[in-house]
Amino acid sequence: MLGAIIGDIVGSRWEFNPTNNHWFELLSDRNSFTDDTICTVAVADALLKGRDYGESLHEWCRKYPRPMGGYGGRFAQWVKSDNPKPYGSFGNGSAMRVSPIGFWFEDDNDILEHARRSAACTHDHEEGIRGAQTVALTIHHALALRKEILRGEEGMNQLMAYATGFSNYNIDIRKEDVENRFDETCQGTVPVALWIISQSYGFEDAIRRAVSLGADADTLGAIVGGMAEAIWGIPMELRSPAEAYLPEDMLQVINDFYQSEHNHYVRLGKRRTTQFIQKYIDFFENEFGRTRESFYRFFDDSEFSHECWALGFDMDCGSSFSETYGLEAWNEPDPLKACIDKVGDIQVIGNALFSKWRYYNHWESPSQADEKTKEWFLLLLHRMKDLSRL
Ligand SMILES: [Mg+2]
Repeated sequence: MLGAIIGDIVGSRWEFNPTNNHWFELLSDRNSFTDDTICTVAVADALLKGRDYGESLHEWCRKYPRPMGGYGGRFAQWVKSDNPKPYGSFGNGSAMRVSPIGFWFEDDNDILEHARRSAACTHDHEEGIRGAQTVALTIHHALALRKEILRGEEGMNQLMAYATGFSNYNIDIRKEDVENRFDETCQGTVPVALWIISQSYGFEDAIRRAVSLGADADTLGAIVGGMAEAIWGIPMELRSPAEAYLPEDMLQVINDFYQSEHNHYVRLGKRRTTQFIQKYIDFFENEFGRTRESFYRFFDDSEFSHECWALGFDMDCGSSFSETYGLEAWNEPDPLKACIDKVGDIQVIGNALFSKWRYYNHWESPSQADEKTKEWFLLLLHRMKDLSRL
């Protein structure tokens, strides 16, 4: 959901001033949120409040009547009308705003029904509905397949087989056929978004490919961004700078969305984190250090890093941890023990564990690991367990 908003903000500058430069400037004072963000927030707000999608969209768009780039002609009339009715649209507006639904529901049938409703209040053409349903379902299945996708191509192939199996879209696309072609339809945009996802290897890479295609930059950025978030998560270094473009009322909805116990994505994240913590507490207590070979098994195998990545932890060389709790606590178990009760953020602990794994995997030999390494990992894993129960 926030991924779609970031895609919109990054793309906003290039909607009417297209670029084909993959390394364009991501964010600047010429970027802003546009209609894609407002509509995405409106759908998320409807989920949080159990409201009708059309009512929420109507209210949010009236609250922000003149976003950068404006609203599409027919949609602008719908916003102005005091008695708005669907108008048979198959524009890509139904697909750009649907991402919250893909994260929110656990069941495929709920996703299909709510994606249909979120589209049909304006885009009641079957193509408008198909586009919204495809994006929402792809997000949902990307969450389930996240670890497989991070491991290699097979997971991505499965996801695309699922998306095209449902939608019947052809994503066997040649870049020269879609580059620099402004297509505002659902059936012209969503297959391109899926094709971009299938080529990408990270969140930022996906957004860059979407925006630098020189097409409907902000909307393609939003559709790709929602799906990319479900696969790769959002890098910390993009999250805060992008949020700085948003007004307080939108930030409140975003915050509530990622905190709500009704949100499947939130529950899934908690369940996976709990499983991760217990798995590695058991491993460090029972196996790690029994033999020298166990050090290599842990630090040379990429399983731990894929799990950290899939949970949204960042390999940041320990910086988020050491900047807050000091280098001593980053290096040694005794200073860590002295401040462990102050360590209060699961994300920061996850970043630290991921980075320490990387340190032995890449910079130091696994053979240098010892009882102190084990103690350090266990201190943080147990602290993580305590925090996850709060
Ligand atoms: Mg827009």
